[in-house]
Amino acid sequence: MSPWVRSASILARTIPSVASSIEIPTPDDWHVHLRDGPMLEAVVGYSARRFRHSMVMPNLVPPITDASAAVAYRNRILAAVPPSEHRELDPFTPWIVWYCSPAIDADELVTSHESGEAAAVKYYPAGATTNSDGGGTSLASFMTLFERMAEARIRLLVHAESTDPTIDIFDREEAFLTEELAPLCAAIPELGVTVEHVSTAAGVDFVAEHPQCAATVTPHHLARDRSDLLASGMKPDLYCKPVINSAADRERLVATVISGDPAFCLGTDSAPHPTTAKYGPTAKAGVFNAAYGLEVVADVFDRHDALAELANFVSRNGCAIYGVDPPEGTVELERASIDLERATHLTTSAGDEVVLFGDAEATRWRIRTPG
Ligand SMILES: [Zn+2]
Repeated sequence: MSPWVRSASILARTIPSVASSIEIPTPDDWHVHLRDGPMLEAVVGYSARRFRHSMVMPNLVPPITDASAAVAYRNRILAAVPPSEHRELDPFTPWIVWYCSPAIDADELVTSHESGEAAAVKYYPAGATTNSDGGGTSLASFMTLFERMAEARIRLLVHAESTDPTIDIFDREEAFLTEELAPLCAAIPELGVTVEHVSTAAGVDFVAEHPQCAATVTPHHLARDRSDLLASGMKPDLYCKPVINSAADRERLVATVISGDPAFCLGTDSAPHPTTAKYGPTAKAGVFNAAYGLEVVADVFDRHDALAELANFVSRNGCAIYGVDPPEGTVELERASIDLERATHLTTSAGDEVVLFGDAEATRWRIRTPG
């Protein structure tokens, strides 16, 4: 048994083979949307309570494309963290990503990265997801920028989803990887790339075949498949981009992360939208999982008898990928011996309601964080 698996509580005494709690190094979230204004204020506490680093996506309106906007956004995030969520060890640290756009000045990006301000650059195919209208029409159009990034060791984060309307929605990740990312990897093998929210077996294979690539995986792509999305009435709360794919794809993702593969780390892609934007003729893409995502992932690992690998996926692999020191503190996940009551919504100060993903799994786990 791994040393961080404890077995000292009532549940462990009644069921000796099942640890009642696990203690893991403070996890990181390598992909999150914190939004801005009242939504930021409503959601940032969930991330600050659970995670050390949060890789914060730049798809605001307007997007983050320069140093002053990035620094101002980071300061707004830190100002919105509730005092109760400040930690001594592993303090919450938002890392601000720049939005890949012709507006980026490469010299400014490199300087900002050297000073620790610019964490990475995120490429969105134009129109692929929320606030991506200013994205690129092709990776190939940014080759000069990517060459500078490779020299400066700035990582490229990719929303890997084709926007070709002739390609089936469930095949768009594979199409993008094959048609766009593979040529880029061949052209600039020194460029570090993260395939964000990988959602298919084809995506897992691609990362395995390209040593310069790593990938984030979300709680919802590990715990749900397209039958959950569509079989019993369309569930707009599970609608995200890339769309949740087949059961076989989900099983491949799970097998990969529970194997401890160091190229894969947690990126929640937590993306809050008000219910007014989710329920209607067209649903906005995004799943808000910052509240219970860690519990959902623990539940997936537990059901596959793989809790011993949880820390690699949520706490260690990402540190190695991004070259940061391991955390000093820990978070404890305690198995609930009774079903806990969990909130299903939050309400912002502007009166918007947001649905919390994973409340069912969260009734089986309780997170304890050091004060
Ligand atoms: Zn995202």
